[in-house]
Amino acid sequence: MQKLSNYIDGKLVAPKSKKYIDLFNPAKGSVYAQVPNSSMKDVDIALKAASKAFPNWANTSINRRAKILNKIADLIMANLDRLAKAESKDNGKPVSLAKAVDIPRSAANFRFFAHAITQFSSESHEMTDAINYTLRQPIGVVGTISPWNLPLYLFTWKIAPALAAGNTVIAKPSEVTPMTAFLLSEICIEAGLPKGVLNIVHGDGINVGAEMSKHPKIKAISFTGSTRVGQEIAKVAAPMFKKLSLEMGGKNPNIIFADCNYEKMLDTTIRSSFANQGQICLCGSRIFVEKSIFNKFKKDFVAKVNKLIVGPPNKKTTNIGAIVSKPHYEKVLSYIELAKKEGGKILTGGKSIHPKGHENGWYIAPTIIEGLDYNCRTNQEEIFGPVVTIMPFTTEEEVLTFANSTEYGLASTIWTENISRANRMAKQIHSGIVWINTWMMRDLRTPFGGVKNSGVGREGGFEALRFFTEPKNVCIQF
Ligand code: NAD
Repeated sequence: MQKLSNYIDGKLVAPKSKKYIDLFNPAKGSVYAQVPNSSMKDVDIALKAASKAFPNWANTSINRRAKILNKIADLIMANLDRLAKAESKDNGKPVSLAKAVDIPRSAANFRFFAHAITQFSSESHEMTDAINYTLRQPIGVVGTISPWNLPLYLFTWKIAPALAAGNTVIAKPSEVTPMTAFLLSEICIEAGLPKGVLNIVHGDGINVGAEMSKHPKIKAISFTGSTRVGQEIAKVAAPMFKKLSLEMGGKNPNIIFADCNYEKMLDTTIRSSFANQGQICLCGSRIFVEKSIFNKFKKDFVAKVNKLIVGPPNKKTTNIGAIVSKPHYEKVLSYIELAKKEGGKILTGGKSIHPKGHENGWYIAPTIIEGLDYNCRTNQEEIFGPVVTIMPFTTEEEVLTFANSTEYGLASTIWTENISRANRMAKQIHSGIVWINTWMMRDLRTPFGGVKNSGVGREGGFEALRFFTEPKNVCIQF
């Protein structure tokens, strides 16, 4: 059975802990490889390598840094098929999705920040007898911790700006889906990334993630994952005054007014509800529909969802693959049971599925639930699976109350052809991202992140480069 390695100081190495975690293929529910469960010792060795590499990398010209990042992007695209298949096997997502979205976006992350760093500038402030200029210097050794839902996509979204800005990095991918991060380490070696600049330490949250958060020499942590773990990291890192960027959970509203472009809304709502098995932090899991079109929407939405094919991720016809892990599969099913207890009516789905030849895989039918109050647990807690609720509303004020009622505030979607209403709603909704008449349309220059319990700080564009640099004011008197 394949055993993955850590990538430390430019080499692929076994963990000092000698411990491994089983890696599952969600499509089959069986073990297919093992990933290191590293320890504090491995984090320490990575830290030494990263500290040693830092001065040279920080002083490497931005053109040279950009060239290496572009080379990594080229190699990711040259390995598109292989990486897409690996991502699908590790995560359960359809190969077609990994090939169209996850892997190209991972390459785009490197390419985007390779370009962005050449355009990054700092401020200067003139006084009558002096000038101030702001130096933006890399922080040093920084840590990145990422989740399983978009494995290589989110892993590289953090690494690329950190490296572009001149930091050296200790990166921990999710132990549930580490395969493409491992393959990326081979790509980095091939691309000629100097040793120690990027170190990938595999392992679980307690043995590696928590050790990184409390390590005094890791000066910043960029985290994406659940709100619970974000809180743990903040508790440990905040007293050390580490820089923190936390991208956390969501419970996003999808608000549909009667005057929307109906067909476009319907097609997009299928994606925003169930893409990646509903395991995207931006998915709209609470669907609020204006009362006058509620019944029509319900009928059309259920009919379209019933046409989605749930099946093995490597089959071309599959729309919805497997849920990432057994614990997560059980969690999603438990929320469906909770919804029933809370009085919800299952309009479609609501059960697990066992495709022929993949009977032990973790599949859940796309599920639509109606009849729930906006503030019941099903509508307040993050489920993060192929489960949505639909609810009618009558006025803007009412739907704003519903939409803003959760502890989360990541993204929201509004469907209306009335531009004044769209702007009014966008101003009043509590989320870091608002999509109007679209969903998951991304320009990598824009600030990305959430409010309330969904996040602290912003990723994307120059925001990420600002996070990964420390501003220093230099004042010169004439
Ligand atoms: P998770 O919080 O369980 O794990 C995320 C990462 O943190 C993993 O690498 C894990 O090993 C690590 N970790 C676990 N315990 C830790 C600890 N005590 N200290 C340090 N690190 C620790 O999240 P998950 O289940 O992998 O991912 C799903 C969650 O991620 C959902 O809540 C989803 O909304 C969120 N998410 C948010 C965004 C965003 O941009 N806001 C994007 C994707 C996913």
